[in-house]
Formats: sequence, structure tokens, C-alpha cells
Amino acid sequence: MALKSEGRFYGRVSIVTGASQGIGEVIARQLAREGSAVMLVDVQEEKLNSVRKEIVDSGGQAQSFVADVSLLAEAQRVCDEVVAQFGRIDHLINNAGITRDSLLLRLKEEDWDAVLAVNLKGVFNFCKAAIRTMINQRSGRIVNISSVVGLMGNAGQTNYAASKAGVIGFTKALAREVANRGITVNCVAPGYIMTAMTERLPEEVKKAFLELIPMKRFGSPEDVAAAVLFLLSDEASYITGQVINVNGGMYM
Ligand code: NAP
Repeated sequence: MALKSEGRFYGRVSIVTGASQGIGEVIARQLAREGSAVMLVDVQEEKLNSVRKEIVDSGGQAQSFVADVSLLAEAQRVCDEVVAQFGRIDHLINNAGITRDSLLLRLKEEDWDAVLAVNLKGVFNFCKAAIRTMINQRSGRIVNISSVVGLMGNAGQTNYAASKAGVIGFTKALAREVANRGITVNCVAPGYIMTAMTERLPEEVKKAFLELIPMKRFGSPEDVAAAVLFLLSDEASYITGQVINVNGGMYM
């Protein structure tokens, strides 16, 4: 691993939610490799601690916070602790997300509520808890992980599609609110990415997805992390309110 002081994010403080596995884990590892102190947030305590340990053992800076993003008080606790220790929040990556798939006819109210609470209210909670610090420091980068499903819909995912489309609307509204404070707010919308979330889908569903992808391959968490790190970089300082699709051409 490169020395922390050599990375392009050296000295920055990043919060990554859903960081114990999948896309969030890769984003967190890459940020640490590029010099950022990384605040790992997840509900999975054991996995979270092992990601933190591996980052620290290889010379990076990381801390773990067991917190449920769907609760504003938990988001506030995490952000308050980060500011108390580091005095700043440079990057917020709202990545934690869940699916509870079912056709609307059978979709239970609790599955609607759970998906909206994590995927949409979780984004509100962490933005709300971090934004004052970013406004005071006159800088900050927020990247919210949406989904191709929020743009094109998907049968069996009315709850998930609504939450991810909601994230895009939220992102654009907040981007307008804070643009003159040196803060950018953007979305990355992944297509089909190989993680635990997609691994559990039935084979025939995977095959049907592959048919929809012009590049004829599924994406990796690294493909998504590359777009997120670009939006956090100095080169992206004039980009706000945008959605970057990382989907192999599945939706254009
Ligand atoms: P993943 O492997 O399931 O990882 C998500 C992590 O977030 C898990 O560790 C999960 O814990 C955690 N989490 C769930 N609810 C939480 C909560 N309330 N508070 C804190 N952490 C929580 O998912 P992924 O595939 O990496 O997806 C990451 C993001 O990308 C999600 O927002 C997802 O919707 C989005 N996305 C993924 C794909 C894809 O194809 N994989 C496509 C488009 C968008 P549990 O394991 O306990 O749930």
C-alpha cells in the first residue's frame, strides 16, 4: 500500500455507510488506500471490524461505527463523534441499502417501510447530520448510491425503485441548496453489480438481466467505486446534481 501521505485524498475524512461488504467495502478500502481517514458505518459489527482491522493493518486510517442509517439519532451520533475527533467531514457516501422484493399484489407494508427507511430516509438522515459541518467548513462532497432500477423500474421492486428514484430527487434538491457553499451532491446509479445483494437472485433472473446489458457482463464493486472516487476528486469540483450511470449500457 502507498504511504497515506501520497494519496490524492490525504488528510480528508470520509464517512461510508454500508461499508462492511460489497460496494461500500470497496469504496472504503480504496479511499483508505488513497490516504483518507475512513469512517465505516454498518449494522454488521463483526464484518465491519474485520474491514477496519485490515485497512489499519495495511497502513490506512479507519474507524468503525455500528449504526442503523434509518435512525436519525444514530446518524447524528456518528457525525458528532467524527467531528469531535477529526473536526471535519469531507466526504459522505450514502451506500447502505436493502431489497425486499415482491410484486405489489403481495408486497407487505412492512417491506415497503423497511426499504424506504434504509434506502431513502437513511440518505436524509446522514445528509441532515453532516450538512451543517460541511456548510461551516465551506466544502464537502456527498455521493448517494441510487440504482438503475430507480431510473427504469423493475417488476417486483416497486419499493426499491421508489426509494432509489427518491434518492435522485433528493440529491438534485440538496445540490441546489448547498451549491454556493462549496458542497457538491451527486448520485452514482449502478446497474447489475456482483455482490451479496445480487448473488441471491435466482439463475433465470440473472440470465434475464444479462440479456439487458449491451456489454454482456455484470459489473464489479470496483467499477462503481471508480465513479464514486472520481466524484470525490478535485477534478470533479464543478459537477453537482448529476447521476453517473455505471451499468454496462443497460440504461442510457
Ligand atoms: P450489500 O452487499 O447488501 O451491502 C450493503 C451493506 O449495507 C450490508 O452490509 C448491509 O447489512 C448494510 N446495511 C443494510 N441496512 C443497513 C442499515 N439500516 N444501516 C447500516 N447499514 C445497513 O449491497 P451492495 O450490493 O454492496 O449495495 C450497496 C448499494 O448499492 C446499495 O444502496 C444498493 O441498493 C446499491 N446498488 C446495488 C446494486 C447491485 O447490483 N449490487 C445495483 C444498484 C444499486 P445487511 O447485510 O445486514 O443488510
